[in-house]
Amino acid sequence: MNTLKNFKIPESLPKDSPQELWNLQRQLDKYAQSIFGPRNSKKKLLAPEFNADAAEGPHVSNTIDLDGGYASLSTVASTSWYATVYELAHETIHLLDPRPAPPFAKGSNWFEEGIAVEFALHCTEIVFGERPAINSPTYETAWNLTKKIVEAKFFNDCKNIRLECGHFADANFHVIKKHAPKCDSRVIIELIKRFDNTPIQNV
Ligand SMILES: [Zn+2]
Repeated sequence: MNTLKNFKIPESLPKDSPQELWNLQRQLDKYAQSIFGPRNSKKKLLAPEFNADAAEGPHVSNTIDLDGGYASLSTVASTSWYATVYELAHETIHLLDPRPAPPFAKGSNWFEEGIAVEFALHCTEIVFGERPAINSPTYETAWNLTKKIVEAKFFNDCKNIRLECGHFADANFHVIKKHAPKCDSRVIIELIKRFDNTPIQNV
C-alpha cells in the first residue's frame, strides 16, 4: 500500500515543519523499501536537515560512527515542498544503505543515481500530479542509462539486482545482464562505473 498518496502538503514551510518533514521521510522510506527491498537494518534513518550553505547540493550525511544517515537537503528545498519531496525521495534511495561519499569511499554508481532520479520523479508525480524536468545533464544521463534496463518491470528488476548484489552500487555486469538480458552490454558497462570518480583516499 502506498501511503505517499495520502501525504498532504503542509501549510508551513519545510524548514518550519520538522514533524511533517520526518513524517514524509518515513513514508518515502517505507515506500522505497516496499519497492526495492529492506533497508540495511544496521543503519539508522535519522531526520532530514537543510544545508546552511546555498552552494551545497542535496546529499546524504552519515553519522560519525557510520551507524546511520540522514538527508541534507538544499536551501531551495527549505522553503519549497516540491523541491523537498523531489530531493528527499532521491536521497531516500541512497539511505537504503548509506555509505560515505568520495574521497572516503567509492560512492554510488550511475545505476544507483539513475534509480534515485526515477524514484524522485515517480514520488513527485504521486504527491503533485506531475513529473518535473531533470535539470542536470549528468543526472539525466544516469536516468537514461538506467531506464534502458527494462521497460515494463523497471522497479522490480532494479530491486532484484539490489537484492542479489547487496547494494545498488555493488551491481555487477553479470547480474544486470541476467535480470535485463536485452540491455545493451555497453550500457551496463556505463551503469556500473563510479558516479563520482574522485580518487579514494587511503585512511
Ligand atoms: Zn544521488
